[in-house]
Amino acid sequence: MTTNYEVRPKAKLPVIDVEAELRRFEEEERKRLGLDQQTDQWLEEMAGLTFTKSERSKITMLIGGLTLAHDFLIEGGLKGVGYNVQMLDAPNNAALQFGKEFGNRGQCNPTYFTVGNLIQYLTILRDKFGMTSEEIVKKYVFLTAGACGPCRFGMYVTEYRKALRDAGFDGFRVMLFQQTGGLKQATGEASGLEMNPTFFWAIIKGIVVGDVLNAIGYRLRPYELTAGDTDRAIEQAKKICYEAMEKRTNILAALWSCKPLFEAVKVDKTLPKPKVSIIGEFWAMTTEGDGNYQLQRFLESEGAEADIQLVTAWILYTIWEARRDTIERKDLKAQDTAKFGLGGLGTFGAMKKILAVTAADKLVRVLFHTFAYTGGLYGYHLPDMDVIAQISHEYYNNDLRGGEGHMEVGKLIMNVTHAKAHMTLSVKPFGCMPSAGVSDGVQSAITEKYPGTIFCPVETSGDGRVNFYSRVQMYLFKAKQAALAEYERVLEEKGLTREQIQAFLDATPRFASPLHKAPHRHAGSAADLAAEVASHITQTRWERLRDRLSVTARKSQELAQKSPHMVIKMVKAAAENAPAVTERVKQDILAFTEEKKAARRARAQKKDSNPVVADAAE
Ligand code: SF4
Repeated sequence: MTTNYEVRPKAKLPVIDVEAELRRFEEEERKRLGLDQQTDQWLEEMAGLTFTKSERSKITMLIGGLTLAHDFLIEGGLKGVGYNVQMLDAPNNAALQFGKEFGNRGQCNPTYFTVGNLIQYLTILRDKFGMTSEEIVKKYVFLTAGACGPCRFGMYVTEYRKALRDAGFDGFRVMLFQQTGGLKQATGEASGLEMNPTFFWAIIKGIVVGDVLNAIGYRLRPYELTAGDTDRAIEQAKKICYEAMEKRTNILAALWSCKPLFEAVKVDKTLPKPKVSIIGEFWAMTTEGDGNYQLQRFLESEGAEADIQLVTAWILYTIWEARRDTIERKDLKAQDTAKFGLGGLGTFGAMKKILAVTAADKLVRVLFHTFAYTGGLYGYHLPDMDVIAQISHEYYNNDLRGGEGHMEVGKLIMNVTHAKAHMTLSVKPFGCMPSAGVSDGVQSAITEKYPGTIFCPVETSGDGRVNFYSRVQMYLFKAKQAALAEYERVLEEKGLTREQIQAFLDATPRFASPLHKAPHRHAGSAADLAAEVASHITQTRWERLRDRLSVTARKSQELAQKSPHMVIKMVKAAAENAPAVTERVKQDILAFTEEKKAARRARAQKKDSNPVVADAAE
């Protein structure tokens, strides 16, 4: 075949050294922008400051950030282990102003409140009590929890330092312990702050006892007959526990001695009240000051029972995070050299860590229930973190962290599907990144999927109290109707009247005790109690026994029917996973044997090169 055009030889494309081109471009740009000069890097001078052992007796450690009960008890606990400690009051609106004045722009509300609270305290010391800034910097330090993470919680400590400097307290020491840092965190040999197991045990005791007292308070207060009785009992109990922690006497004995105080509170448990579960951002739902407009007290004054989230549940969540992350990265092994990686943990490191965090979860639960039972908080269920993760997974990725993670979503679903509350109130601080996404976005899908859900997301900005209250009141109206309808339904089903229940309680002190907790069947406490006592009122002892036996028989039968399937399922799953597990074990054993061989070889080499030293070492 002939062609009527000329075929030219292929032209060679010029070969460009891209890296060199980029370097040249960068140099030119640096020169153009004046960035080619040697610059001094900014160094955070207030970071990592601590105090020495010899200074300890002259230093006062300021603490704060949880509820008043927690901060008070932690103060007692840390005093007991040898520190001078002073708790800060709950942050108020003045604290918010201080936070806004000295903090960076665009922070979330909890940052402003907590940072401002510290600045406010120090300013009072200076302007009202006449201390100089130098004296304050020398005599006080602030201890707070820190963590990394995608939300602003990871930046709190930097915010504290910036605001302190701008407020005239340059050099003030802010010390933090990492939530994920375990029971021993480095504070240096000569450090006056020893973050050892004794230190953390004092904090954990304060948290758990604080949780127990708070939970009892929220159970009793809505039903008390004389306003203020519960608060008086709780105050006395706090003092007893504080003294036990400060003097390091038996805290369980102290809690036990508080029980009669609670039992003396007269209550009317036949009142149907809407139960409102408070969820949302951790600090905003926990604080008891202007940070959430005293939300818990407001709900109680409106005739509701507040169901608060305990700090222990937060500890369980952080343990769950550690467990999940370890399971997810366990196959990376030696390659996992990230900060919290498993690379340095040896052959069975991942397995050991999983066992340790699983044990930690169990330990926290046992500890909490021991304290709860001793203090009179009966029948309290801590959330199962695996269940919460599982039910929320479909709507919110379990690996997304920051704020409450998937917990907020899981709790709303649980409240609806397990009838845990009539209404769910989600507190979302102004400027909160994770909470805005969850409350405004994901929760809308949940409320669509579960019609009838009473879900009230509210934003706290510090200055919208009236709007905030009015929004809550609107939802509360629906919740009150739901609580009343539920109670009346139970009475009708059981063929009872409220007067009959009251008469029964008058004659039966065990059920009438303010600490008595009826088994959970309904959202409302009064409905649960009505369902529990109904059989005692309408049936004879023999009829109740017969009913109980038939329920037990039915449950055993159901279990027997389900069990073979469950066993088959477990065996199937084990069989499916067997090759992978066997392979992993093989690799572990191989790696372990090689490690041993290498160590033996190294020892032999050492001995060959210097037999005297090696023998002595052995
Ligand atoms: S969860 Fe929200 S409110 Fe809380 S620290 Fe993070 S960004 Fe701020």
